[in-house]
Amino acid sequence: MNLDLSFHLDAGLGSKPALDPDALHDVLVVGAGPAGLNAAMYAARKGLDVAVLGKRKGGQVLDTSAVDNYLGLDGVDGEGLAERFLKHLSKYSVPVLDGAEVVDVFSQGPVHSVVLSTGESYRARALIVATGSTPRRLGIPGEDRFAGKGVGYCAICDGPLFAGKDVFVAGGGNSAVQAALDLAQMSRAVTVVHRSRLRADQVLVDRLLSHSRIAVLLGTRIVEVTGQAAMDGLVVEDAATGARRALPGDGLFVEIGHLPNVGPFAKRLVLSEHGEIVADARGATSVPGIFAAGDVTDFPYKQIVIAVGSGATAALSANEYIARTAF
Ligand SMILES: Cc1cc2nc3c(=O)[nH]c(=O)nc-3n(C[C@H](O)[C@H](O)[C@H](O)COP(=O)(O)OP(=O)(O)OC[C@H]3O[C@@H](n4cnc5c(N)ncnc54)[C@H](O)[C@@H]3O)c2cc1C
Repeated sequence: MNLDLSFHLDAGLGSKPALDPDALHDVLVVGAGPAGLNAAMYAARKGLDVAVLGKRKGGQVLDTSAVDNYLGLDGVDGEGLAERFLKHLSKYSVPVLDGAEVVDVFSQGPVHSVVLSTGESYRARALIVATGSTPRRLGIPGEDRFAGKGVGYCAICDGPLFAGKDVFVAGGGNSAVQAALDLAQMSRAVTVVHRSRLRADQVLVDRLLSHSRIAVLLGTRIVEVTGQAAMDGLVVEDAATGARRALPGDGLFVEIGHLPNVGPFAKRLVLSEHGEIVADARGATSVPGIFAAGDVTDFPYKQIVIAVGSGATAALSANEYIARTAF
């Protein structure tokens, strides 16, 4: 197998013609992360005329230092994985417009149009929305500096790097509590820090509070991440008294939710209570001909392999939809 990594994110696609604004494409994929790129490949392999419009080629994978949980690609770095995705897609000559932000969407009968921030608009028989999500941040000193050097946003992804270490989890909802329980299986000690009361399901809270390696600090704000080359602890503040103290530790998982990048699709599509696009098992949304995939949807678990799989599902569904619809 050839695993040539010489393809670069900026390479290869510069010679593609710009998309024709007058053409009626079969599929336009909005978003160039794992979900969108795989959707585009599956659509191209079905012989559909497809293009990708994405703000940032590669998506969140570019923010990931090492990906250890993508089957068959052990320990690939995030940028390397994005390069492989793009290189594979380039085999099918699919145009990928980088820096293309979709700011509006409208439909005339079964034809859907998207408008870019630059004013150009493009039309398609089907849209696949794969605009991903953005992890919520604490917004405190040291958070950015130690991101990837102790501070993480995905315990499922990076938890194993903290085996035998002392870690903190910021947050009090289901994902924070589940992250603490998962981390406690491998870390030496886990401390959940939350500014108010726990909002997770009672069954999870009971397991959390009875776990011998988990401590819970409620009414406590994290105000700073400290360290030198890597994170070495936190400064926390008592929400009632304002008293501050330093706590040593090797890692901090910020598990306070994701903001789905629904953008202009919010006004067209039914959203979940968490603001995610509601999509069925086939990736169909509330509007015929508009499909969704990856982190922007209400599918559980925000992971690369899941985004990739849902991109394939959305493309196959779009193909069936186009075949049975009169345009
Ligand atoms: C720090 C970090 C580490 C992670 N580590 C791992 C890991 O080790 N393993 C793992 O499985 N998962 C990991 N994840 C999660 C994983 O990266 C995501 O689940 C995955 O990238 C989701 O893919 P996606 O295609 O749905 O969305 P994204 O990757 O978010 O891609 C969305 C795409 O849509 C574009 N976009 C957004 N809005 C618009 C718009 N209006 N117009 C046009 N384009 C738009 C974006 O620019 C981007 O191209 C990590 C996440 C983070 C933040």
